[in-house]
Amino acid sequence: MNSPTQVERELGIGVYGSRGISIVRGHGATVEDVNGRTYVDATAMYGVVSVGHGNPEVAAAVARQAESLIACFGSFANPVRAGLMTQLTGLLEPLNRVFLCNSGTEAVECALKVARVGTGRPGIVAATGGFHGRTFGALSATFRPDHRRPFEPLLPGVAHVPFNDLAALDDAIDDRVGAVLLESIQGEGGVRVADGGFLQAAERLCGERGALLILDEVQTGFGRTGNWFGFQDAGIQPDVVCLAKGIANGVPMGAVALGPRVPPLKPGQHGSTFGGNPLACAAAVATLEIIRRDRLPACATELGAWALDRLRSLDHARIREVRGRGLMIAIELKERSAPFQRALQERGVLVLGAGPTALRLLPPLVITRDELGQVIDAIDEVLAS
Ligand code: PLP
Repeated sequence: MNSPTQVERELGIGVYGSRGISIVRGHGATVEDVNGRTYVDATAMYGVVSVGHGNPEVAAAVARQAESLIACFGSFANPVRAGLMTQLTGLLEPLNRVFLCNSGTEAVECALKVARVGTGRPGIVAATGGFHGRTFGALSATFRPDHRRPFEPLLPGVAHVPFNDLAALDDAIDDRVGAVLLESIQGEGGVRVADGGFLQAAERLCGERGALLILDEVQTGFGRTGNWFGFQDAGIQPDVVCLAKGIANGVPMGAVALGPRVPPLKPGQHGSTFGGNPLACAAAVATLEIIRRDRLPACATELGAWALDRLRSLDHARIREVRGRGLMIAIELKERSAPFQRALQERGVLVLGAGPTALRLLPPLVITRDELGQVIDAIDEVLAS
């Protein structure tokens, strides 16, 4: 019989690089492969499993909801969804309207449509190094030319200004620009933190020139960077916030929250068959409750600061820079990181890349100090070898 890895390689469309192992279960910040080998998961499966693999409270909420109602299209109300919308708008005040979808790229698509219809202006200003998803609109705002080029022509009117370049941002926002779309910390772009002053200038310039400020918090949201949302560190108030990943502990869900400067949409201008289904909403309600109750944003701050200190104290000529905030960390190397990702996996540690030369840690927020220590020890070992 062919292994799951062989089957997926053969039957998939070729868009994923294969890690060569197949994972069958997880617990907290560890996962187990088909052969019973365990790994410390410092990927959280791309930053989604915020409260841990196999979380019993999320599992129970999903099981209960599956037995009562899985689907409920948005024209019909549902108490679980209403509860989640109340919780999200409470966290994001004064953003007091929310659209629920199924992924990060869909959240960005919705935000772009909201900006177009709300301002009547087609222009979008995004940043070099930014990543916003792979559907056509979100891809247009994504920076990496190798992601974009094969699919051109994309959405017209998108400009990329150098990240953290205030003067370039000032130049780019004219009266054709409907939105500025930024990450508070660029994830795929290599864990690059936006300067507070850059985000504050974006807020001010958007306010003065009639554009909307969209913060893509898909990777940085829900406690990962030490606050509920990454933009809170800069003390700014975006008009639109895009969310996904950690919101429902791995059950697919995205969300877009809209602030007071965003005009209302009309029926039919946007929608989603699956968006806001009670199953995903139940998972999200349980996840957010655990993040709040267990003070996971504060844990991310504390553990992240400890990890950054330890990583910065590693003495390796191969390391160019260690950067990040909370449990979103990059170890930038002076050489390609892929061989080190493989070597770490062989030692039972899963990490991500970020660009060609960085190792990225996005562990579940419930990772223990001991587990994170194992990750750092393994990084120390592979860089020494
Ligand atoms: N925006 C950001 C900042 C992301 O990091 C990602 C995914 O990595 C996306 C959007 C796209 O999310 P998804 O893969 O759920 O479509």
